Amino acid sequence: MQCLYSHSAAPTSSISVMVYTPEHPAYSSVLESSIQNLRFNSSTTRGPRYIITPLSESGVKSTVICARRHKLQIRVRSGGHDYEGLSYISFKPFVLIDLVHLRKVHVNVKDKTAWVEAGANLGEVYYGIANKSNVLAFSAGVCPTIGVGGHISGGGQGTLMRKYGLAADNVLDARIVTAKGKILDRKSMGENLFWAIRGGGGASFGVILSWKIKLVDVPPVVTVFTARRTLEQGATKLVHKWQKIADKFPEDLFVRLLIMRADNGQGRKTVQVLFNSLFLGTTKQLLPLMNGSFPELGLKAEECLEMSWIQSILYFAQSPKGASIDVLLNRTHPRSSFKAKSDFVKTPVPEVGLKRLWKKFFQNTTGMIILDPYGGRMSKISESETPFPHRNGTLYNIQYYISWSSPNASQANWISNVYNYMTPYVSKSPRSSYINYKDLDLGKNVSASYTNAISWGTKYFQRLAKVKATVDPQNFFRAEQSIPVFAS
Ligand SMILES: Cc1cc2nc3c(=O)[nH]c(=O)nc-3n(C[C@H](O)[C@H](O)[C@H](O)COP(=O)(O)OP(=O)(O)OC[C@H]3O[C@@H](n4cnc5c(N)ncnc54)[C@H](O)[C@@H]3O)c2cc1C
Repeated sequence: MQCLYSHSAAPTSSISVMVYTPEHPAYSSVLESSIQNLRFNSSTTRGPRYIITPLSESGVKSTVICARRHKLQIRVRSGGHDYEGLSYISFKPFVLIDLVHLRKVHVNVKDKTAWVEAGANLGEVYYGIANKSNVLAFSAGVCPTIGVGGHISGGGQGTLMRKYGLAADNVLDARIVTAKGKILDRKSMGENLFWAIRGGGGASFGVILSWKIKLVDVPPVVTVFTARRTLEQGATKLVHKWQKIADKFPEDLFVRLLIMRADNGQGRKTVQVLFNSLFLGTTKQLLPLMNGSFPELGLKAEECLEMSWIQSILYFAQSPKGASIDVLLNRTHPRSSFKAKSDFVKTPVPEVGLKRLWKKFFQNTTGMIILDPYGGRMSKISESETPFPHRNGTLYNIQYYISWSSPNASQANWISNVYNYMTPYVSKSPRSSYINYKDLDLGKNVSASYTNAISWGTKYFQRLAKVKATVDPQNFFRAEQSIPVFAS
């Protein structure tokens, strides 16, 4: 506390942070407030020595300086959606910086930009934009409770990515606190660090305070649909064809797949595929396009709904019909214990491969597979523009996801089984995954030595590690799978 006082920019009566120790009556509720994966909300989870919720940028800065001085590690949490709980768990004594109070969203309609603080969640950003304009949007994920601190620094994919790229592709500036306790913007941090935090994950490089994002144009009316097709309705052939065309659709059309087990209506189990889509235009424009390139789906006007872009956010978030956009300001989301893994696909999985995959769903499972199509703008952005190399040639991203409600009923084995099965069909050497779908199984068979990790690791590992060596040579910001220091 003395350290925080002495480094505070505020008058000494106020230290611009709130501090919670385990003895504080609100410690548990503050800790649990944004734990999205209940797998890590247990009494055996190692909690922080201190939870610090800064009230200003200077509060973040003084916390970094003081944690370092007192040899405590740091975990930074914005929205708490990390799949492996890395924003609020560590096996070393640590301080949790929770950015819940740093969530201002300032939209500039004239410039088509916004400054958003890292603790804001996507819902707050989307709400802030929609409050000022019905023809501006931001290209980012579908779940409104995700925090922009973690999401944008890991890429950020969503329904507008085929037209406008990832969230990270739409960042114009950023403010960050470094390990030395300096607050830098794009100009003062330099292009290397600015490059690294747009896809390389923020947690390795500092505490991101805010982003300046580019807003993108959307029409006043968009169309959404969710067409359900089962195996009996030819889902295998539809998925097979989708793989060949979804990345080639016009950029205004995004059709993702959600695949899961279902009842076929006659008491028998089947696999159901949801063709879940956002089109930047009217139903009248959409139907000829779909019937021209994907007639097999047999999309009908009755399956389509016209609405504003902000209503489409509620639609994808599965908010109840007619819900007010105010629900986007709600920071809580239904929670469960879950495990996920990811892949990237460059060649369509053959029909026979799909048929064998369906069998995995007939095991007693709540598992789901989500296929997000790339192509469009995603293919036009150069591989080296950001540390997100999955550009031209990537057909789609896969997310394997399974959740369970009782803590003792883990179904994570199902996912490992499906992941192993998919090995021949997905990217190789290295098998790639999406950093925002964090997966601590990755690299388990690899020696912990950095040299080996480099040969195994991502395409930009060396460049990221050099940035790391420049901005954080003592490796203060470290976590499982963070970028190590590497000087060549
Ligand atoms: C229900 C659900 C739906 C999702 N949907 C999508 C989707 O549609 N598209 C998509 O791309 N992803 C999606 N994700 C994944 C999501 O993008 C990542 O989990 C993302 O990292 C979450 O960011 P966060 O700030 O909420 O998480 P946190 O848990 O707060 O942080 C995640 C990571 O980022 C670091 N971090 C957080 N804030 C900062 C900061 N200010 N400075 C530096 N480092 C920071 C943390 O330390 C941690 O390592 C989803 C996740 C969930 C749980």
